[in-house]
Formats: sequence, structure tokens, C-alpha cells
Amino acid sequence: MMDLPDKSSCTGCFACSVACSVHAIKDECDEWGFHYPRIDKELCLKCGACTKVCPVLNKESSDGILGCYAAQHKDLEVMSKSASGAVFPAIAEKVLERHGVVYGCEMSLPDCKVRHIRVTHISDVSRLQGSKYVQSDLNGIFKEAIVDLSRGVDVLFSGTPCQCAGLRKCVPVRYQSKLLLVEIVCHGVMSPQLFEAYKNDLTRRASSPIKEVLFRDKQSYPGRSSFVVRFEDSTKDICVRSYSDPYGRLFQSRLALRNSCYRCPARGKDSCADLTIGDYWGIKKWHPELAEKGAISVVIVHTQKGEAAFFDARLSRWKSDYSLAIKDNPSICKDTSRNEAQYSMFVRCIRNMPFVEAVARTLDGPRSIRLIRRIVGNARRLLKI
Ligand SMILES: Cc1cc2nc3c(=O)[nH]c(=O)nc-3n(C[C@H](O)[C@H](O)[C@H](O)COP(=O)(O)OP(=O)(O)OC[C@H]3O[C@@H](n4cnc5c(N)ncnc54)[C@H](O)[C@@H]3O)c2cc1C
Ligand code: SF4
Ligand code: SF4
Ligand code: SF4
Repeated sequence: MMDLPDKSSCTGCFACSVACSVHAIKDECDEWGFHYPRIDKELCLKCGACTKVCPVLNKESSDGILGCYAAQHKDLEVMSKSASGAVFPAIAEKVLERHGVVYGCEMSLPDCKVRHIRVTHISDVSRLQGSKYVQSDLNGIFKEAIVDLSRGVDVLFSGTPCQCAGLRKCVPVRYQSKLLLVEIVCHGVMSPQLFEAYKNDLTRRASSPIKEVLFRDKQSYPGRSSFVVRFEDSTKDICVRSYSDPYGRLFQSRLALRNSCYRCPARGKDSCADLTIGDYWGIKKWHPELAEKGAISVVIVHTQKGEAAFFDARLSRWKSDYSLAIKDNPSICKDTSRNEAQYSMFVRCIRNMPFVEAVARTLDGPRSIRLIRRIVGNARRLLKI
């Protein structure tokens, strides 16, 4: 029997666990809080079912690329709650109108944990809107989706490409026609434990519990996306440009992603989804006529089922070209890499100091250097040089 992939490539989709009839696959966390399967040898029958569904061991892609579009939801109110052009809620609304169910990622409140949930009412789609830069807890949700499919219900599952690939592999062929997979463009995910460390540090600094975290809020400042933390004590609330807070900076630095994200088994040509949705970066260059329209998504259509769902949704859409869309958004098809020396530095720092200081020390250097830089910056501003 083949082994399951090791920690350098396992994505944590847990399709293997769904396939195991004797519950021999246990869930184990590494020191960063990323989840990995571990086979209990006492229970294992060596049947090989787990390895047969693992998307890392059995790469399988969808039909290729049938089209590439720029798109935006027609309702600006819905748009304001989404990370990008709100393509996801537009497709979800239609599935729910037909009495289907939708699976996606929410940040639950008040504990601010990121997990996948099942939604059956249009009023709950907003719970899934917005990007959460943490690996979501799938929490056995694949089994729920398979039960829905077995009852003949239409299922829309949205998530990262590796989550979509995992579900695609463990759904029996006879149910596949009812399954619509919408994946987000994904450069990688950070661990729930790092996010917890950040929240703990913020709570300590503000001396107030956190009520809500929004990674890309469009409502606080129209025209720009903000990182927002709301505390019980609202005088401590934080609202800064997205990716300028310590967690966002670390996420963008790509230093602390899951190992599998540096050799993603599911993006680009390996996509198993019906549709890929992301930000249309570079829209001003390639479609200047859309420059003033606010957030615009890129939509890559992989299958006829995806095409039908995309054209049915309440969206404005403009034909584009895959070769243009990937120019400023390499994560659509290319892996990311990390600076290993800087990563080692981050590991040393995060083991010994609070989150915010560890990120500053890794990305900006020691406190003395940061102080000198700040003094020089202020002097330059004063002297206008
Ligand atoms: C970790 C991560 C990395 C990303 N990297 C890129 C990138 O490099 N380039 C790019 O163009 N776009 C990236 N995006 C995608 C982009 O930010 C939007 O999520 C996407 O365009 C959908 O926007 P929307 O307005 O249509 O949907 P929204 O209405 O904002 O809906 C959000 C959708 O994302 C899903 N989702 C949110 N967070 C998670 C999560 N943690 N895990 C799984 N699914 C999640 C929800 O289920 C829902 O389907 C990333 C998103 C995430 C979460
Ligand atoms: S080989 Fe079979 S019994 Fe053993 S863990 Fe995999 S699926 Fe379960
Ligand atoms: S990639 Fe998914 S299916 Fe494969 S071993 Fe990891 S958790 Fe299991
Ligand atoms: S980069 Fe690939 S492996 Fe990492 S979370 Fe995204 S889809 Fe999964």
C-alpha cells in the first residue's frame, strides 16, 4: 500500500479520512496548528482506500479553460460585503433559489474561528462573504456534502483549490453532476494557531476582548480595503489599510504558509473546480474601461457546468483573456516561495516573543534599527527631502 503524503505536501483536506470505513485516520496538529492525518496502525486494514482519494497522490484536473472573464455583482450592497467583485454570492444565490445548499468558509463569532459551514438560506450567504486569511477547519463537512448529494440536492462548495480537489476526489462519480465547485485563487493559508497568537497579542495590548476581525473590509473606507478589528471596548478598534497590519504583512510576505502551499497540488492546470474566482489585478492596464467600477473579479471557467452557473448569476461580465489575467496575479497558476533565512528568523522570534514584535523583528529588523529608520523618516518629512 502507498503511504499518504508527508507534511511537505499534504494539504489537510482530509478526503482520506472520509474514505476510511474504520475511522483509522486521526487528526493531528503540528507545532503551528496545521492539521495532518495520522493512520492508527492498530485499526488500519491496509485497504488503500485513503490513498486512492488523496488529491496529492492522484492529481486530476477539470476540462481546462473554457473562458476567462472580468465580473462584478449587479447589487452594490452585496458587493460591499465581499472581498472582491462578489462573484461568489451571485452564484450562491442562484443555487439556493433552486433549493440547493451552499458550503463555504465563515469566521464564527464571538470566538473568531475560521471554519466551513453549510448554508440553506440566502440571508446566510453574507456569513461566507469576505476573505479569511487562515486555513479553515473543514470539520467533517465533506461527509455532509456527500449526504446532500446522495439525496439529489444541488451542492455548491466554495473554498481553496486543494479543498475543492479533496471533495472532488471523495464524491462518488454518480453524484458528481450535482456538485458545483467554486475555488478561490489562493496563494496560501496561514495556520489557525498563528492567528490565535495574533488575536491574543491584540487582546493583551487593548486590554479588551476581540468581537470581530475583517481582513478586507470595504465598508469602513469606500474605495479601499481595510483590515478591521472590533473590540468590546470600541475605543480600541483598529482600522488600517489591508496588509499593513502585522498579520496581513506576514501573510503577504508568504513566510509562514502551510508547507503544501509552496508546491500546491491544485492550482492552475491542476484545478479540479468548475470555476476559479479571484481579484482581477491589473484591470486598469488590460480593461481601462472598467477602471472606475470598483472591485472587479477574475473568473476562469473550467467546465460547462461552471459556465452555466456563471451565466445564470446576477453579474455584469466582460470577456477577458487568461494570458492577461495571470500577468499581475501569478498565484492563479504559479507557486510561491519563501526566503528560508527569513523564515528561520521568524521561527526563532515567534517562539520567544509576542506575535506583533516577532513580525516586526522578522520583517523590519531589531528595535534599534526600526527606531533609527523612524527618526530618519520623520526628519526627511520635516525637511521635505
Ligand atoms: C487565503 C486566501 C488567499 C487568497 N489569495 C489570493 C490571491 O493570491 N490572488 C487573488 O486574486 N485572490 C486571492 N484570494 C481570493 C480573493 O481574496 C477572494 O476571496 C475571491 O476573489 C472571492 O471574492 P468574491 O468577492 O467573489 O467572494 P466573497 O463574497 O468575498 O466570498 C468569499 C469566498 O471565499 C471563500 N473563503 C474565504 N476565506 C476562505 C478560507 N480561509 N478558506 C477557504 N475559502 C475561503 C468563501 O467560502 C467564499 O466562497 C485569496 C483568498 C484567501 C481566503
Ligand atoms: S488503508 Fe484503509 S483502513 Fe487503513 S487508513 Fe487507509 S482507508 Fe483506513
Ligand atoms: S492531502 Fe488530503 S487526502 Fe491527502 S493525505 Fe493530506 S489530508 Fe489526506
Ligand atoms: S496554496 Fe494550494 S495547498 Fe495552499 S491552501 Fe491554497 S490551494 Fe491549498
